[in-house]
Amino acid sequence: MSVKYDFLIVGTGLYGAVFAHQANEAGKTCLIIDKRSHIAGNIYTEKVEDIHVHRYGAHIFHTANQEVWKFVNRFADFNRYTNSPLANYDGEIYNLPFNMNTFNKLWGVTTPDEAKKIIEQQREKSYVENPQNLEEQAISLVGNEIYEKLIRGYTEKQWGRPCTELPAFIIRRLPVRFTYDNNYFDDPYQGIPVGGYTAMVERMIDGIEVKLDTDYLENKTYWDSLADKVVYTGPVDAYFDYCFGVLEYRSLRFETEVLNTDNYQGNAVVNFTDRETPYTRIIEHKHFDFGNQDKTIITREYSVEWKLGDEPYYPINDEKNNAQYERYKTLAEQENSVIFGGRLGEYKYYNMDKIVETALRKAAEVLSSQ
Ligand code: FAD
Repeated sequence: MSVKYDFLIVGTGLYGAVFAHQANEAGKTCLIIDKRSHIAGNIYTEKVEDIHVHRYGAHIFHTANQEVWKFVNRFADFNRYTNSPLANYDGEIYNLPFNMNTFNKLWGVTTPDEAKKIIEQQREKSYVENPQNLEEQAISLVGNEIYEKLIRGYTEKQWGRPCTELPAFIIRRLPVRFTYDNNYFDDPYQGIPVGGYTAMVERMIDGIEVKLDTDYLENKTYWDSLADKVVYTGPVDAYFDYCFGVLEYRSLRFETEVLNTDNYQGNAVVNFTDRETPYTRIIEHKHFDFGNQDKTIITREYSVEWKLGDEPYYPINDEKNNAQYERYKTLAEQENSVIFGGRLGEYKYYNMDKIVETALRKAAEVLSSQ
């Protein structure tokens, strides 16, 4: 069979879409396939009740990279959404990230000096020279009160284990801000694409052939025969038939509900930091777009154990899994006509801007050598 395309791109997620766009723009022929029934991978948004619902978890675009920001703005206008999540601890509401608003609510302090003094006193009381677990590490960094109210329950739900059994390295530092600034991110560019992420990806891959509901690994030899090069953004261990074992993830379960009220929680993201509430957070999607629809849609997010076949969300980058990944990476480097990219192909948590950056870089490298 004659080769029909320059590139077969496996995955219509952000990595695949950016790569495909660049190749197409350079005059290369591309075919994109995805095993899901929709494009855009995990940044997929679907319109329900005129609200853009983030199907795979809340996604806020933020970056310090001007090139990346310029690139994504070619495909969407971005609104002025600024991420300012709230924490709900047993009905008490606190601002995140930890800042002067949080400290005022916790202790009634109004100046940075007062807040610093309290944190320092609490840290000194429970300071541990060599923290052996996440609890000791967190208390050493921010003292026991912030830990108890805002870190412990949330982290235990996220990882499914007590903080005393979690390694200290998970929390290397905890951003503490002594200003009244509720903006979660430090990046200069931030927003949500007007019209949703799906429309943005649609524009990126405009004019490129796409086949959905198509699993590359079920008929790999056939798909390989169609193109000179493959860009693979699926799980790297699946590509090699799990020959070194399965790379582990944490997964999420979402419960989404349409409510007959126009405003449920007054904010897009509320984290539930007590241990008893079973979910980690509630997303109210309309607030990402400053929506004024009559109804609202909320999603409760649960952190759950992952097993093969479940949706992989967060890679468990511990020693064992990283070592296993290195072995897969060595194999991947020997596949001359395959490019492994994206969060699953590289077994790495990447924010969207890093995905765009790495896909642009890889496309430039590959296209310039052709
Ligand atoms: P994906 O979007 O997963 O795309 C891979 C695609 O490959 C999928 O569509 C999949 O179906 C397809 N595929 C896999 N295997 C096969 C196969 N065998 N055959 C055919 N197709 C296949 N980043 C931010 O910057 N801001 C945020 O606020 C943010 N929030 C997040 C929230 C959550 C809960 C999570 C988990 C991540 C978040 N991220 C966020 C990160 C963001 O989701 C990723 O950076 C981005 O989605 C990765 O894109 P990707 O193309 O690598 O992967």
